[in-house]
Order: sequence, then C-alpha cells, then structure tokens
Amino acid sequence: MTTTIHLTRGDITRVDADAIVNAANSSLLGGGGVDGAIHRHGGPAILEECRALRASHYGKGLPAGQAVATTAGELPARWVIHTVGPVWAASEDRSDLLASCHRESLRVADELGARTVAFPAISTGVYRWPLEDAARIAVETVRSTPTAVEEVRFVLFDDRAYEAFSRQAG
Ligand code: ADP
Repeated sequence: MTTTIHLTRGDITRVDADAIVNAANSSLLGGGGVDGAIHRHGGPAILEECRALRASHYGKGLPAGQAVATTAGELPARWVIHTVGPVWAASEDRSDLLASCHRESLRVADELGARTVAFPAISTGVYRWPLEDAARIAVETVRSTPTAVEEVRFVLFDDRAYEAFSRQAG
C-alpha cells in the first residue's frame, strides 16, 4: 500500500483526519503556535490526558523525536499525536530527530489504526528550522517509512511553508 501525500494551506485544528500531529514541546503541557491552537480548540480533555502521561510514562517529559497519542477532544480529528521536534542548531545536525518525529508519528498512527494523518511543518516555528530543509526531511521521511497510513496531509499555515513543501513534494 502506498501512502499518498497531499498539501493544504490552512489551520490543522480544522482538519478532519483520523489523527492530527501536534508539534508539541517536551512538557506536553501546552505552548504557543500549533500546540496552543490544538489545546485552545480541542478543549481540556487533551491537556488532561497529557497530564496523565506526565504522571505515568513520561515523568521527565516526551523526548525530542518521540511521539505519543491522546484524544483530540472537541477537534474534528479522532486523535492528536504529540511529537517533539528538535530545536534548530547551526552547530549540530539534528536532522535524524526531525525525521524520527515523522517516523514515530506514523508508527503511533499505525498502532491506533489511523488511515489519514495530518502533519504541521514540525520545528519550523519557534524551533526555527529552515523551511526548505524541514520540508525535504518531512517529505522524504514520509515517503520512505513503511506504514498502513493511506493519506498524509501536510497542513501548512502560510504561503512560504506551502511553497516550500510544494517544491519538495514535487
Ligand atoms: P515548533 O516549536 O515545532 O517550531 P510551532 O508551532 O512554533 O512549532 O510551528 C510549527 C509550524 O506550525 C510553523 O510553520 C507554524 O507556522 C505552523 N502553525 C502554527 N499554527 C498552526 C495551525 N493552527 N495549523 C497548522 N500549522 C500551524
């Protein structure tokens, strides 16, 4: 089964996929950007599950490159898959961690039985990853990861991100 990649410009909290991916921070307790929007629109049920995860498996938080699922609360999606992108650093190549976010999110999606999954442009906001490079890693990783997910939708918040992903997805 091949995974189809689609690109959309818009707000991921509005997307009716089985699962949407959150560019979370390792605290799992909310933040700005896409994370803030997901908690704001999804309601308190998401934060409640995140708190429970912190109290059980992820006492020290979710490490960069890993992924974990919660309910999507009041969002149209069924699940939110939280993943923590690496912060961009000129002095160190953290590409493997950014690839791992995409791979691990797809692995969690497979565990859930999700067939459609929406991703934001992970690490390209507050974490400052250069868009073109983030788009390349995201598209290449989704293309090379074996998964039962049938459709991956990259939901890009602005024109710059949409254009970068369009160039990479060709
Ligand atoms: P990170 O900390 O991983 O950089 P951010 O949330 O700061 O995460 O930004 C990641 C990307 O998500 C940025 O390209 C930002 O423009 C985009 N973004 C912000 N809000 C939304 C949203 N509601 N839907 C989709 N993408 C969003």
